[in-house]
Amino acid sequence: MHKTPAKLDLPIYQRVIGQIEGALPGPTLIFVGGIHGNEPSGVIALQNAIAEIQPLKKQLKGKVIALAGNIGALQQGLRYRDIDLNRQFTREKMKSLQTKHTEESNEIEEQRELFNTIEQILETETGPFYFFDLHTTSGETIPFLTVNDSLLNRKFTKQYPLPIVLGIEEYLEGPLLSYINELGYVAFGFEAGQHTSEKSLQNHFSFVMLSLVYTGCMVPKSIGFKKYYQQLSNAVHKNFIFYEIIYRHEVSIKMKFKMNPGFENFQRIRKKEVLAIQTGGVIKAPQSGRIFMPLYQGKGNDGFFIIQKIPILFLWISKWVRNIQLDRLLVLLPGVRWKTHMREELLVNRKVARFLAKDLFHLLGYRSKKWDHTHFVMKNRERTSRKKEYMKTRWY
Ligand SMILES: [Zn+2]
Repeated sequence: MHKTPAKLDLPIYQRVIGQIEGALPGPTLIFVGGIHGNEPSGVIALQNAIAEIQPLKKQLKGKVIALAGNIGALQQGLRYRDIDLNRQFTREKMKSLQTKHTEESNEIEEQRELFNTIEQILETETGPFYFFDLHTTSGETIPFLTVNDSLLNRKFTKQYPLPIVLGIEEYLEGPLLSYINELGYVAFGFEAGQHTSEKSLQNHFSFVMLSLVYTGCMVPKSIGFKKYYQQLSNAVHKNFIFYEIIYRHEVSIKMKFKMNPGFENFQRIRKKEVLAIQTGGVIKAPQSGRIFMPLYQGKGNDGFFIIQKIPILFLWISKWVRNIQLDRLLVLLPGVRWKTHMREELLVNRKVARFLAKDLFHLLGYRSKKWDHTHFVMKNRERTSRKKEYMKTRWY
């Protein structure tokens, strides 16, 4: 396999880890590593990948840019110093980013710099653009992709020999990738494994190599595609399935929460199975499925998620109904109206939402967020997609 550095030590980090301009025209790939500072694996893999690709510049189509996320936190080996950088990319927060405030958290400065760098890339480089966000998890896991559910993202990511978890954006507020997705680009996350595991580093590296091929930057032969493909597909035991998050167990700050030992990411669970202990009693699975990201280390308010396989038929139908924009008929239903004249978001009365299963909105390309006591806001992922910019690619 590729020469992997022996340990994850703490070097000096720079915003631009490296960039390589190919001799031939092509897309622009932007990789971000370490947006969580306790996840250096992505950054190190990017350093290695840049070194590996550099001599192959003449065969490279387009440009590869590798960025570091939370530099200050990376330096200290912390997830973040003041606030989670990967929860700051909401529209409201992005607006207030434009004015500098006197007392700012460390992360706001990081965010401004990172965002300016990305903006500049979007202005000066040529598309199509691809964004990849490299992460690791606190517990052991097989590698997987986290993908905002747009047809564009689905189509691109299904090339990878990896499990794909759709719909995490419904549960997370303000990750960088959701923001980039809303700008209409292909953007998604890759979770390589446990934070300090050697395997994560190898998985990250293989992921970068496959991405070069899938975007059309490199031909498979010139980078030894096969071995990286094999390495990743072996790591996931050929689990190339689309999953959807169907449940999130929220843990409030006041509560003590302890997962029962032994649950592995993607492990099957049965309805009513005891999963954890929490102030007030035991926590049982409200439905059958697979456990996803159980909270074993550190703090957080996501106790665990439950995911389930999305039937192929559902994927097909949803592709079809989204393409014909069937969702425009939703406003004919009582309690459903457009939030603005842009017709990107629906306001749905919560009583109505109870009758219309969430699945229906998912099918039509909507993801829901709480809006107020009486309404959900449902956002359409397809409207902003820059499909035209990707149409001439090999994978489209
Ligand atoms: Zn992370």
